[in-house]
This record gives sequence, C-alpha cells and structure tokens, in this order.
Amino acid sequence: MTAPVMFCYAHPDDETFLSAGLIRTLSDQGFPPALLLATSGDAGHKNGAYRDWTREELGALREQEMAVAAQVLGIADVRFLRLPDGRLQETDEALFVRQVAEAINRMQPAAVFTFPPDGGNGHPDHRAISRIVSKAVTEGHCGSVRRLYYVFSDSLAQEGRIPAVKIDTLHLWPDKADALRAHDSQIEAIRRYFGDLSLCLPERRYEAFALAWEDGAWWPEKTERQALEELGLPLS
Ligand SMILES: [Zn+2]
Repeated sequence: MTAPVMFCYAHPDDETFLSAGLIRTLSDQGFPPALLLATSGDAGHKNGAYRDWTREELGALREQEMAVAAQVLGIADVRFLRLPDGRLQETDEALFVRQVAEAINRMQPAAVFTFPPDGGNGHPDHRAISRIVSKAVTEGHCGSVRRLYYVFSDSLAQEGRIPAVKIDTLHLWPDKADALRAHDSQIEAIRRYFGDLSLCLPERRYEAFALAWEDGAWWPEKTERQALEELGLPLS
C-alpha cells in the first residue's frame, strides 16, 4: 500500500489536534494519507478514570480510539512504533531513525508532515519525533519524500516563516469534533484546549503548516497555490 502524504506524530490524538482538517480534506480529494505514531500514548493518564490502568492497558485502549478517529478522518493506514510514551528522547537515535524511515518507506509518500523543532508546545516527545523525522527525511533515508512540512507554530512565526498551507476547519468541524471525541481517554485535555466541541472556537479554527524542506533545500519559497496543487488540494 502507498499513500501520497504521511503524518508522523508522537501520540494518538496529535494528528487530530493539529491536522484533522487537512487529513479529512486530503481524503475527500481521493488521497487518504497514512499516519505514523511513535507511541501508543500509554502514559496519557490525564483523566481520573484511567489513573489505575497499566501502561499496557492504556496503550491498547488508545490504539483502539485511534482506529475510530482514523475512520472518521479517512486515514488509510496507521502504524505505531510503540516506543515509550514520555521517553522518546531516551530512544537510541540511530534505531529510531531507522524505524521511522522503514515506516515511511513502506508507504512511499511524496510529502511528510510532523511537528516543528520545538514540538509546537515544547513537549519533549513532540520535539524528539520532529528531530528524528527531519533526520530520516533530510539525510537521505526516505527516497520517495520530496517535501517535509512542519505544523506551524509561534516559534516558526518568530523566525519569520510563513505557512505554505492553511486549512479552514469551520466546515470540517463536525468531523474534527467527532475525531476528538474518539480519543475519549483524553477528553479532559481536549476540552481544555478546544472548549465545547459542538463549537469551532475562532482561535482553533485554522490549521497551518510550513514547508521546511524540499528536494534537499531548507525553507524553499513557495506560494500557497503551488503548495496546495502539489498536495492535490482544492485552491482556496
Ligand atoms: Zn502529543
């Protein structure tokens, strides 16, 4: 199986928080993307209801939740590396790069999306997967990948970067909200961030992504129109 676009994140729910609208749009255009998650989210005991669960139990539940969210969003293929949640930075770097590259090469995507170097919110796991995916792609381990995108963040804005792709989730919100609800074990954190899921908050409305690397060059200049065309997305 192949997919033209692959998303690489740390935990089940990262994909929905950051890119549910883009994923749904790609799938609607006939390009269902693939998803690679470094962990099964087995340390995500944020909700009181799961405090007594073992890591194995919680990881298994979160993989099931991810399967439901994947169906809602139209994700073609979900892979888990099952590395330890919360401890990605301790993972042997060469091994981690090899595992990520193998997963990417299995799907042969032309574009890969991941966190920006600061992880977006600074989470150590987010920073680790960003670094490892960036290494795998830009150091020549993933021959099919022509473009690497980072989720847009405040730190990228401060560096003067601009988003190449912006997705308005307003009309996609029912699907994004359903995918968020699928991650029921994380619902308290989800509500803290998104509020009442029946409404799309103005500050959560847009998803944005910067083109970090293309064909060997960092931070190429590109119009949003070119970026959308390359991804097979409708011009906004
Ligand atoms: Zn995360």
